[in-house]
Amino acid sequence: MSQAVPITVAKGDGIGPEIMEATLRVLEAAGARIAPEFIEIGEQQYLAGHSSGIAPESWDSLRRTKVFLKAPITTPQGGGFKSLNVTIRKTLGLYANVRPCVSYAPYVKTLHPKMNLVIIRENEEDLYAGIEHRQTDQVYQCLKVITRPGCEKIIRYAFEYARANGRRKVTCMTKDNIMKMTDGLFHKVFDEIAPEYPEIQTDHMIIDIGTARLATRPETFDVIVTLNLYGDIISDVAAELTGSVGLAPSANIGEHVSMFEAIHGSAPDIAGKGIANPSGLLLAAVMMLVHIGQTDVAERIHNAWLSAIEDGIHTAELHSQISVGRPFGSMDFADAVIDRLGNLPQKLTPVSYGSPVEVKVASASDAPAAQAPATAEKTLMGIDVFVHAALTLPDDLAAQLKACTPADLELQVITNRGVKVWPGGFPETFCSDHWRCRFMSTSGAPLPHTSLVALLSALAAQGVDFIKTENLCHFDGQRGYSLAQGQ
Ligand code: NAD
Repeated sequence: MSQAVPITVAKGDGIGPEIMEATLRVLEAAGARIAPEFIEIGEQQYLAGHSSGIAPESWDSLRRTKVFLKAPITTPQGGGFKSLNVTIRKTLGLYANVRPCVSYAPYVKTLHPKMNLVIIRENEEDLYAGIEHRQTDQVYQCLKVITRPGCEKIIRYAFEYARANGRRKVTCMTKDNIMKMTDGLFHKVFDEIAPEYPEIQTDHMIIDIGTARLATRPETFDVIVTLNLYGDIISDVAAELTGSVGLAPSANIGEHVSMFEAIHGSAPDIAGKGIANPSGLLLAAVMMLVHIGQTDVAERIHNAWLSAIEDGIHTAELHSQISVGRPFGSMDFADAVIDRLGNLPQKLTPVSYGSPVEVKVASASDAPAAQAPATAEKTLMGIDVFVHAALTLPDDLAAQLKACTPADLELQVITNRGVKVWPGGFPETFCSDHWRCRFMSTSGAPLPHTSLVALLSALAAQGVDFIKTENLCHFDGQRGYSLAQGQ
């Protein structure tokens, strides 16, 4: 018998303590080899002045055990409180959000009885990097940041997860028909890594049709890997489609620490009544057991839970004509699962986790994908200067800019909201007060940075209100920037 694995446990707020007690009772009865360390998180911590809902000393436990079983918390209303989940994800580098979405028809009503898929969402980058600026009176900007190492980590994780869990197909979803550089990189890295997993089928879908297919034919998907924002949206769509948001678990996996929780919140409306369904947290604990290599215990609990569900053992929110007797309370439900330890479900499909297979978690020192470029040769070819100007005629702005452009640069194009408005713009194009003015090397030869400084000095002397610049570079001779719409 292996040694007990230390894990950090937080009972959370609202229904958190009730469902955690029920979950730990099942884990103990099933022989989980764990040694819980309890930490306090949530509402009381926020109110005690810890703006992220966690006391500084609790980080020590998380760093030591590296495994966190977390009950939901209540985020107090009002400003100044930061999301605990976002803080934990970012501070500890939990880059992969893993959300299995499974239907349990006919015990849980759903239009899609055969659905059994897993969404693996990138958790740290994309529009969630939190880099936002107000640039002009009319324009606000949020930067979408995608890195090659970030893509490699999440895509490799998705394939490793598929391999370790006997999944057959990984579908990548992006919007690279529009965002050719950022989403394009995600898709490209997917295509580079896929051949390393020849036994797994692959597929790519544009996120819009992918979401539509997910909503109408979820049974055709197996593992989906996608960027942060799309993953956030489709994982809620998918959980809702199963008809059982209250049963869904999730894992947040990092190189060092991983966190397991139900997807629902602290349900203050039913807290303290002993009627909450502990299933989401229990299934999260099953994911945790698989993660720490206790697949035997995970399988016993999961199959006992499926047996209880098909035997009509249902908590209040699932209760229907096919349920047995009165709705079960949280602890009675846990005891019913315990009674079934060792049973296999007869109607629902039993789970089999086999022997422990490690899902390889990428580390910063991992070799990059086979075709990843080494450091590219970078040459500076121009600059985009974003200007705040309340104008109506782009020709006026062009004339002002041209008058002060140094000889080694030339004004090539002006766009507004990405659309070319000079030269040869259309009067119908709506213009805001935010103009992107593209200056390129006159000779086509690479520029020194001092050329850009000279341009900005000249613009400042003319009173041009530039609010941001982006260097335009070639990487190994390839354009490192997009062309303007209509350019
Ligand atoms: P919620 O998920 O707590 O509740 C939504 C509805 O689902 C309620 O009617 C509730 O009674 C029901 N429900 C949820 N879990 C249930 C369960 N296990 N058994 C039976 N019924 C269940 O969402 P909410 O009401 O929007 O949020 C309540 C609080 O939870 C808020 O403070 C929110 O910030 C927080 N929250 C925390 C997390 C987290 O800790 N990961 C996630 C979501 C929301």
